[in-house]
Amino acid sequence: MNKQSIYGLTIEQLTEWFLENGQKKFRAQQVWEWLYKKRVKSFSEMSNINKQCIQLLEEQFEMHTLQLEIKQESKDGTVKFLFKLPDGNLIETVLMRQKYGLSVCVTTQVGCNIGCSFCASGILRKNRDLTSGEIVEQIMNVQLHLDEVGKDERVSHVVVMGIGEPFDNFTNLVTFLKNINSPKGLAIGARHITVSTSGLAPKIYEFADLDLQVNLAISLHAPNNELRTQIMKINRAYPLEKLMPAIDYYLEKTNRRITFEYILLNDVNDHKEEALQLAKLLQNKRHLAYVNLIPYNPVSEHIQYKRSEKESILEFYDTLKKNGINCVVRQEHGTDIDAACGQLRSKQLKKAK
Ligand code: SAH
Ligand code: SF4
Repeated sequence: MNKQSIYGLTIEQLTEWFLENGQKKFRAQQVWEWLYKKRVKSFSEMSNINKQCIQLLEEQFEMHTLQLEIKQESKDGTVKFLFKLPDGNLIETVLMRQKYGLSVCVTTQVGCNIGCSFCASGILRKNRDLTSGEIVEQIMNVQLHLDEVGKDERVSHVVVMGIGEPFDNFTNLVTFLKNINSPKGLAIGARHITVSTSGLAPKIYEFADLDLQVNLAISLHAPNNELRTQIMKINRAYPLEKLMPAIDYYLEKTNRRITFEYILLNDVNDHKEEALQLAKLLQNKRHLAYVNLIPYNPVSEHIQYKRSEKESILEFYDTLKKNGINCVVRQEHGTDIDAACGQLRSKQLKKAK
């Protein structure tokens, strides 16, 4: 049996583990510090921890369950990591240089069951959920890469927008969020973390109730049920009349701004009519709504979709603006290295066939 990744434990769980194993409580704090602040690569480097305790840790836990397969660097500073999991599955993680800091995009599942018709990750069904440790380790690996580069840079932002539907792996997602946010750990501010969901309405209520201060993004992609079901079949289970009340609940409970993601697909959802419908749909929450217009990254398996023309993108943007909706056209990163969600992985899997 594979040992569990130590990064999957919260500080409370680690403390409990130490107490159960006859160790002092403060050991947990010390180990936590070695993991996240000093960022050592093996238990044996934890020099203020006694030998017996290190042995116990080594017997029970693993520090590296992810193995780096490929690292690609783009001209714009984007770095894409492809990792192999102990069971041979591949996942990807992307580091992006933004004006405001260094942002990492993490994966939460091997594949995705939601099966959106435009997405590279949804082509293969979900193989399994990632453990919380496997999600945290993605950030740790990127931080260790930065440590090695030696410019004293820190991962400052995290977006949960890689492969998978985070709300379909809710418990592990929440442990991950708590760990990277922990002031004694990497201390990545909750306001610098964004979780994106395809709209699993019941989980939006649950997320709101957690009171985490983490940002929420909703992959909307269409302003009416007919079109949304055509693009994202999850809309059958959670149509707009279920999704929008969940969003209203979230807004009321948290008073936090929500980002709505909208991929622009040529001649599918990018007409002026859809922009007007979208503006209407968001009108009553426009003070807390922000629309992210995403130029589609073509996926070779989905030839029916093309990126919208520049003029359509601008017209869509203008129409939203004129109707009082805050929006932005998303800037792209690493297009020369397959940086869109699931693309490097899908290429590798095809090569392996
Ligand atoms: N499953 C979650 C999070 C991962 S996808 C979700 O769907 O929200 C993160 C974002 O990338 C989503 O908004 C998704 O629609 C978008 N995306 C997926 N494939 C894309 C592509 N080929 N081009 C541009 N954006 C894409
Ligand atoms: Fe899954 Fe998100 Fe891709 Fe849809 S867009 S298939 S929910 S990863």
